[in-house]
Amino acid sequence: MTPLEQQIRQLIETEGPLPVSRYMGLALSDPRHGYYATRDPFGAGGDFTTAPEMSQIFGELIGLWCAELWRLMGEPSPLRLVELGPGRGTLMADLLRAAKVVPAFRAALDVHLVETSPVLTERQRVTLAPSGIPLHWHAGMETLPAGPLVALANEFVDALPVDQLVKTEDGWHERRVGMKNGRLAFGLDPAPLPGIEKILPARLRPSPSGAVIERRDLMPVGDIARRIAIHGGAALVIDYGYARSAFGDTLQAVRAHRFADPLDSPGEADLTAHVDFEALATAAEKQGAEVHGPVAQGIFLRRLGIELRAEKIKLGKEAETRAAIDAGIARLTGPAPGMGELFKALAFAHRDLRALPGFDS
Ligand code: SAH
Repeated sequence: MTPLEQQIRQLIETEGPLPVSRYMGLALSDPRHGYYATRDPFGAGGDFTTAPEMSQIFGELIGLWCAELWRLMGEPSPLRLVELGPGRGTLMADLLRAAKVVPAFRAALDVHLVETSPVLTERQRVTLAPSGIPLHWHAGMETLPAGPLVALANEFVDALPVDQLVKTEDGWHERRVGMKNGRLAFGLDPAPLPGIEKILPARLRPSPSGAVIERRDLMPVGDIARRIAIHGGAALVIDYGYARSAFGDTLQAVRAHRFADPLDSPGEADLTAHVDFEALATAAEKQGAEVHGPVAQGIFLRRLGIELRAEKIKLGKEAETRAAIDAGIARLTGPAPGMGELFKALAFAHRDLRALPGFDS
């Protein structure tokens, strides 16, 4: 049994079964035993691989997207560039390298990284320090400075804890993590939750018995949207999920590149749930930001010129390297098992920014 499972069992004994979001929050971010708190999970030897870890072009194109945003914003200096959940810092490193082609943009950058994991913070520090760009770390949103900003979040929202609600004959019930036959098990809170049916989009009503909805606290996204609506700027969120709210249990655990049981060995596997882009858009709009997209990642990256960029970096390379570059592009832009369709890009921006690259052009 993992030390975190012991801790979770004790919690259940004293407090009763836990909401799924509480369980997921502990599994990912418990300061001593949480998944992200204790390791660097990325890459072939780890548990999963993200887009920036697959191809340098991903971060480079996002860097050029940021430079164009900066230009559309009237070239503010400094420009706060905020990244939520930067992982190994690879996207930011590729972005800062690509930014060299727009020196005034690069010189204006003041980078703020929001990261809860001490292990990954250290990794980001090692990766990014040689860039010579001012870098600041934050454990939460509260300490971010005010002012116009450009924010990025790649595979960040899927790691924000979800709650699950299940429809039964007598209404909606919260799913909880409790104990059954000496093991962690899912169950339903016996008291039905009133008022859930009303908040569902009209097309999902009346909901059938057995339906599951997932809801997550999108506070970090709402916080960025509020700052943007007041002070200006834009945010780019890329993740996997569905464009419109839908029923479904999407909680998943991944360990060593394979799906695992979400209740098995908490703290040792990555736990995520699909992103509801409709809910994300609503959260940003509520704060007064304007939403662009979502568009499929494959379309977004092609609009930003991924193919041209690939041709450029293939020039003069060995056949093997050229093939590896092509394979990376196919994974980023192609249909499943590629990321081109399941992954989506959504931006939200100050209302003065009318057309955003990759979304409206
Ligand atoms: N963007 C990176 C990493 C994605 S994994 C990439 O694409 O490779 C999720 C990242 O978010 C990790 O760095 C994790 O430590 C961080 N994270 C998870 N929950 C967080 C939270 N509530 N606040 C800040 N960072 C968080």
